[in-house]
Amino acid sequence: MKKEENNKYINIKNGKLNVWWIILIFIIIIILSFIYIGNVKKLIYKNIYANITELSEQTATQLNLAITDQKRFVEIMVDSINRGYFETENEIFDRFKGDLGDYNFTRLVILDKQGNGTTSDGHIVKNYVNIEEFFEQSEVYLSENRPSTVSNNQVNIYSKTFELNGEDRVLMATINTQDYKNILLRRLFGKGGTYLINNEGTVLIDSFNIIKEENANLYEYIKTRYELKDKRETKKINDMAENIKKHKIGTFDIRLGNETYFIHYEKVNINDWYVVTTAANSTIAKELIMLIIISQAVCLVVTFIIIAICVYINISNQKKNKKLYTVAYIDPITLLGNEAYFKENGALYLQNNNKNKYIVSLDIDKFKALNNIYGYKFCNNILKTVGQELENILPQNSITCRISGDIYTTIFSYEKNVKKLLDKIYNKVSNIKINGTQIHLNLSIGVYKIKKEDTDINKILNKAYMARAKTKGIYDENYYIFDTILENQLIEEQKIEFCMENALKNEEFEIVYQPKVFTNTEKIAGAEALVRWNKDGKVISPGKFIPLFEKNKFIIKLDLYIFEQVCKNLKLWKEKYGFMPIVSINVSKAHFTDENFIEEYVKITDKYNIERKDIDLEITESATIDENIDILKILNKIKEKGFTISIDDFGTGYSSLSMLQSMPIDIIKIDKVFIDKANLENDQNIINYIMLIAKHLGVKTIVEGVETREQVEFVKKIKCDIIQGYYYSKPISKDDFEEYFNKNR
Ligand code: C2E
Ligand code: CA
Ligand code: CA
Repeated sequence: MKKEENNKYINIKNGKLNVWWIILIFIIIIILSFIYIGNVKKLIYKNIYANITELSEQTATQLNLAITDQKRFVEIMVDSINRGYFETENEIFDRFKGDLGDYNFTRLVILDKQGNGTTSDGHIVKNYVNIEEFFEQSEVYLSENRPSTVSNNQVNIYSKTFELNGEDRVLMATINTQDYKNILLRRLFGKGGTYLINNEGTVLIDSFNIIKEENANLYEYIKTRYELKDKRETKKINDMAENIKKHKIGTFDIRLGNETYFIHYEKVNINDWYVVTTAANSTIAKELIMLIIISQAVCLVVTFIIIAICVYINISNQKKNKKLYTVAYIDPITLLGNEAYFKENGALYLQNNNKNKYIVSLDIDKFKALNNIYGYKFCNNILKTVGQELENILPQNSITCRISGDIYTTIFSYEKNVKKLLDKIYNKVSNIKINGTQIHLNLSIGVYKIKKEDTDINKILNKAYMARAKTKGIYDENYYIFDTILENQLIEEQKIEFCMENALKNEEFEIVYQPKVFTNTEKIAGAEALVRWNKDGKVISPGKFIPLFEKNKFIIKLDLYIFEQVCKNLKLWKEKYGFMPIVSINVSKAHFTDENFIEEYVKITDKYNIERKDIDLEITESATIDENIDILKILNKIKEKGFTISIDDFGTGYSSLSMLQSMPIDIIKIDKVFIDKANLENDQNIINYIMLIAKHLGVKTIVEGVETREQVEFVKKIKCDIIQGYYYSKPISKDDFEEYFNKNR
């Protein structure tokens, strides 16, 4: 596994999608906030329109009321004059002077048609300008602004004509224009103003004295003051002018300078006058604007917080994924990929179009023994160095993993002579230097050339394993390339797999018993139950199918079946003879991945009422040294239930003394390789050593594979307790065994 691939793989796993998610969320939030703010704005505008309209209406109404009041007072005065109560102007003045203040009038004036007359405060008026304007009116008349003749003020004049002593006169009640402002002055809004204008737009009253020049036109004023160039805005002013002409009312908003203004024009119902109220957005909607700004800010802050959270989650997820990934896919010792990594990436590798793809499985033989000799730390270094060597030798495109204990697997494509490459691997990896020490490793290398149609990583892995198994223990071949022999074997295995389930149902599996005898007395000591497969009239020996069943886990079913059959027989024999020697049953290590299997065994013994100490479970030594199994826990549980325990094929598995000491075993079963004639002399030391260990541990010993008298004598000499072998009996059928038992007990 190359480093870059590792990273690439992490990226594939985590994806960069999250960034897009963040952008999407961001856009959605922005859009939503715009919609929200837009709506708030609309609402605010609606609100302002309503407010300004109401204010204008109020102002207009008040103005109207005030004017109506003042008009009525003028009416009353003229009425009483017409009733003939007064002879002279002064009499009139005297009568009403006192009431003027109540109506905001400053003075009364009575003039004749030439515009000559007197005022209530003693002024004499001569040739009053435009006097005709007042004599033309039949009702009470209210003039627009005009300069006062007796003071510097602008005034408005209420008037009504009457006859005094047979002559036409007009009664004028003067009001300072300024005083209207008190009515209009309802400063609800900060920036803006209230204006009273006439039908032409001429400003009669500017309540806040914003417009300096007199009798200005409001429309023109606005246009020039704000240098209105924008056609749309200019149109709004023109529209207002036109509407006012047509006696309509209205509200609008307009951009003046750098402010939005709200304007409402309302009829006063006197002289076609209008009250125009203007208010700047900045002041009227100060709080509302603040609200918008705040909600905009809140939106932004929330967006950023969400994004920050997303980024944080993303980063921590990536870290977590990386950690998980490391745990799940990386072998901590070699930093290569592990089995899971190999299977996932190997499967992808199969999909690429490279030619000449190979899969190679490499196993360091007897690595467990190296562990015992050099210790774990040093051996971890070996594993690491082997990994590095492989990475160095193999082409760049390879995926190299340590997929379990001492097994490496690599998949690569190689255009040149692959045999040269394999030799190079063998030579380099079998002689490595660790901390300056030269180490020789025995390697088993299996090779499979991947075909175009190969798509299943497990299948090709199996082929490489099969090829590797071919080299085990054969030291004159560096590697084995999967060939037709193996292909046929594979086909054979597939056939077996195809019919194994049915074989179990059809009771094709039979149990044979091989007697065991005491070394001293040569009387029966027990038996080992061994399985045979009667297939189509032929007997298949377990060597042909047990390894396959261990691989495909069918052995779990088969072992249970055998166990139950043995218990059934034992029950019968016990009922018949009242006694039966101990029977050994093989237990494959395939069970050990789940310790609950023991309960199944217990259930069966209970079912047939078998004492568990009468059953000896044979567990191979190699099963006890599997790193992936907590063997002590399993053995203790078996022991707890009362079974007898044997360590089978002892001496081939390199278990350590300390390990043996902690295991609750009863019997050591010395492997038959040590008793082979050819080995007797060579291996005498080993057997002696094993006997010493057994004595030290206080466990019994069995030697298996004893075929000759010579071997029997040897076993007697070394004081091994029990013998099993062809010398006494081959594995025999249950009836034959019953006979043997009766003869030899
Ligand atoms: P094992 O447990 O080591 O069984 C002993 C094997 O040695 C048996 O082979 C037996 O027939 C053979 N043997 C016994 N005495 C001699 C002898 O004097 N000379 C020679 N050359 N061989 C002798 P078998 O029955 O073919 O079984 C082979 C292996 O298959 C067994 O090795 C055991 O590991 C496995 N096996 C057999 N039956 C079962 C079973 O029911 N369950 C499991 N898990 N494994 C089984
Ligand atoms: Ca056995
Ligand atoms: Ca054995």
